[in-house]
Amino acid sequence: MSKQAELDRIYKRIADEYHALNAKQVAYAIREVGRVRAEVAELLTEFAADDGTIKRQRLSRLLRELDGVERDLRKYGTAAIDEIIEKSASFTTSAVSAGFATVAGVPLITGSFERLNREVVNYVTRRFGEDGLVLSDRIWGTSGDIRDAIGASLRSDIIRGESVGKMVANVRKAYDNETWKIKRLVVTEGNTAYRTASALSAQRSEVVSWVKLNDNGSRHKNHESHRCYVLAREDRYGEGAGVFKPTDSEIYMPHPNCSSFITAVLDKRYL
Ligand SMILES: [Zn+2]
Repeated sequence: MSKQAELDRIYKRIADEYHALNAKQVAYAIREVGRVRAEVAELLTEFAADDGTIKRQRLSRLLRELDGVERDLRKYGTAAIDEIIEKSASFTTSAVSAGFATVAGVPLITGSFERLNREVVNYVTRRFGEDGLVLSDRIWGTSGDIRDAIGASLRSDIIRGESVGKMVANVRKAYDNETWKIKRLVVTEGNTAYRTASALSAQRSEVVSWVKLNDNGSRHKNHESHRCYVLAREDRYGEGAGVFKPTDSEIYMPHPNCSSFITAVLDKRYL
């Protein structure tokens, strides 16, 4: 096997490991943000009358109390996502540098890993998406959506005179219906951190000048319409399909929910 093929195989294994880690990160974020369900249940108990329902005269006040719940949604969401991005960056830089050294016999990254990881985190948290938003805007948006879903569920249950027990169950359902938004955030931002760390570690390297974007979309029906599919087949620099400069940031986040991955292309003198 050529050194490049060996390196590609290691990068593919790291991609599989990262995607397994990212699936755990999704579950973690949904669990963390879901802590607000207990806060809502407590609120409902406070507002309940002796018959276990909440009088509709108290509805407006209860809905205003959701301001605090929304603040906590943002707080838990921000803490979870920050941790996920940092972990995605540090996982990637240490995995690719270890794999690279095994094959190439020289270190991939020159300089400080910590500084590199910080650069990745800064990139991911400060980048503007096509929607013109940064990460914190997306967390605000999703937190607001979840708060609204909980509010709508409480409003309709109180008007119907449902019991607090039933309301708690419906709040849970309302939350579950919104968790795909948390999943999309964690998949998008985590994978962006992973690809950015892959590219910037190659940029730090003295033995790598190019990186390659590999699409990973066999699972999707419309994969051929995805930006990663197009980029992975583009030969922009005459260096081969999907080969880009490590600084070409459009390959860091081809589209939301993208699970493509970036591999290093060994310079010819090291082959
Ligand atoms: Zn993709």
